[in-house]
Amino acid sequence: MFPRNAEVVIIGGGVIGASILYHLSKRKIKAVAVEKNELASGSSGACDGLIFLQSKKPGPHLQLALESKARFEHLQEELDLQLEYRNPGGMIIIEDEDELKVMDSFVEEQRNTGLDVSILDPHEAREMEPSLSEALSGATFSPLDAKINPILLTLAFISSAQRFGSKAFTDCEVTGIEVKSGRVRVVHTTRGKIETSVAVNAAGAHAPSIGKMVNVPIPIKPRRGQLLVTESVPPMVTSGILSARYIVAKFNSTLEKPQKGGISIDQTYNGNLLLGATREFVGFDKRTTYVGIKNIATHTSRVIPQLKDIHIIRAFAGLRPYTPDGLPILGKVEGIKGFVMAAGHEGDGVALSPATGALIAELIDIGSTHIPLDEFALERFHS
Ligand SMILES: Cc1cc2nc3c(=O)[nH]c(=O)nc-3n(C[C@H](O)[C@H](O)[C@H](O)COP(=O)(O)OP(=O)(O)OC[C@H]3O[C@@H](n4cnc5c(N)ncnc54)[C@H](O)[C@@H]3O)c2cc1C
Repeated sequence: MFPRNAEVVIIGGGVIGASILYHLSKRKIKAVAVEKNELASGSSGACDGLIFLQSKKPGPHLQLALESKARFEHLQEELDLQLEYRNPGGMIIIEDEDELKVMDSFVEEQRNTGLDVSILDPHEAREMEPSLSEALSGATFSPLDAKINPILLTLAFISSAQRFGSKAFTDCEVTGIEVKSGRVRVVHTTRGKIETSVAVNAAGAHAPSIGKMVNVPIPIKPRRGQLLVTESVPPMVTSGILSARYIVAKFNSTLEKPQKGGISIDQTYNGNLLLGATREFVGFDKRTTYVGIKNIATHTSRVIPQLKDIHIIRAFAGLRPYTPDGLPILGKVEGIKGFVMAAGHEGDGVALSPATGALIAELIDIGSTHIPLDEFALERFHS
């Protein structure tokens, strides 16, 4: 039965909303998640499942990733469901001398924070991943990086929350939020209204439209990523692989070369390879394109020449929730009591989902968090 009231209403049934629902349920808080389509029908169902620490900016971003990683270590056991979690390490391939310079200082910064990551020369990189091309300039490697199936993760958070008595409703679009005397009072949905004092905006790339309902501008934009899926093949790569161009594009847009986007390569549990991904601002258009597919196929097969002999069986695209500084927007919003942000994780939402869910639940429950969320506040964009 559709609830008439709840302590917390979570808007969005992606990996972030699902994790928040689970962590609130563990704290015995009566929460409801509402999703306008199906669970994991947004970015969380159209992405890779790489859990990279070494791609995170040293500082609060990396701290959030480390908190998540510590939780991932026991999450499969805790949820008691198959998540296809593995910890084979991750590699960032470096294709030219410019990238090598950027990665040298990026890695040094990370090592200074105590992260286990090192630079490999081309020979060492090929010793670890023999299918890599001889033409690379090097790679970085961290044994901490891991992988997971993002759809299984989202569904597992939801079903574990349901075991605690929480509920998630699909085909249930939020159409309005009533605020009275500066506090959230009611969330209106296509299936009825829910009285509540807390609404969590976990609507991913759609978070700005939820913000509009309470007159709060939110600087999140959809950033399309196209992915190719190959037929299942015997083990070809062990680590998750990203290219340094990803890091360069994410944190230093002046060095971005739009015609030479970064790539990701990940062999799934079943042997299919996921080859990605574009980074495009094209509104909410989720179609794949000839140019996108061609660029990914060309670039990934330059990095792993054997890919030329493997068939692509599918292509799809997802919309990353992009923010201007690459960091998510988390926490309370000034001026509207009970309106909480948990969106804008761009290409890191899967990796950051356990920490995000745990911290937002902690914030709602006790009003503060053991990792400060100040750096992630929406208000950082207002100055
Ligand atoms: C190609 C690609 C590769 C990626 N690879 C990785 C990776 O390897 N590792 C990683 O960590 N991250 C990766 N990401 C990023 C990751 O997918 C996202 O950061 C993450 O899924 C965001 O989760 P979310 O729950 O915030 O958003 P979403 O999964 O998009 O969920 C938001 C939900 O809100 C719902 N919603 C919107 N408006 C309303 C409304 N009015 N009422 C009710 N519901 C509403 C939507 O339908 C949607 O289901 C990748 C993304 C892409 C596109």
